[in-house]
Amino acid sequence: MMIILLGPPGAGKGTQAKIICQARELFHFSTGDILRNEVKNKSNIGKKIDSIINSGKLVSDDIILDIVEKIIIDESSKNKGILFDGFPRNIDQANSFEKLLKKKEKKINLVFHLLIEKDEIIKRIQKRQSEENREDDTVEVLKSRIDVYLQETTPLIELYTKQGLLKKLNGMQSIENVNNDMSKFLDEIN
Ligand code: AMP
Repeated sequence: MMIILLGPPGAGKGTQAKIICQARELFHFSTGDILRNEVKNKSNIGKKIDSIINSGKLVSDDIILDIVEKIIIDESSKNKGILFDGFPRNIDQANSFEKLLKKKEKKINLVFHLLIEKDEIIKRIQKRQSEENREDDTVEVLKSRIDVYLQETTPLIELYTKQGLLKKLNGMQSIENVNNDMSKFLDEIN
């Protein structure tokens, strides 16, 4: 099973992904977590992307697609599927992803779109900043991340709606209620 989670920063993608993946034996694939790890370990990739992540811009598609291909090969057989949290982030990534999945004889089963209001995004990111100390959770960088989301990622909503894959979720609800809504859709395809 291949599931995508779409939504702006602070929509609750990571929180929901953790719960769903544990309950359904899916691999939680957060591109953001993997990239932050590269930065932390000061790897060659990490050194290249450090300033990009901390400015709120997108890391190059080549770097991301290499990571994605590796994860699909390594994790598909070990789990019941993969939940993509933070990928794809633009139309080029979505197109490359589709080709890659075809090559591996796989397909996207569902795309969740977590909807949340801007005021709530700011509140949640400020809370996360005090808890996790992520360098890109400042108000300044957040602005850039929201702009990038609106310009580059939101076209995916139309793409996946046309493909009949998109399910909208009210991300302003409690964690439990969002999770219940997701579960209903996942039960339907199981
Ligand atoms: P996230 O944890 O998903 O909010 O991602 C944090 C940062 O990692 C983003 O602001 C980007 O700089 C980078 N990033 C994560 N996923 C991607 C992706 N699919 N394509 C490009 N950059 C990404």
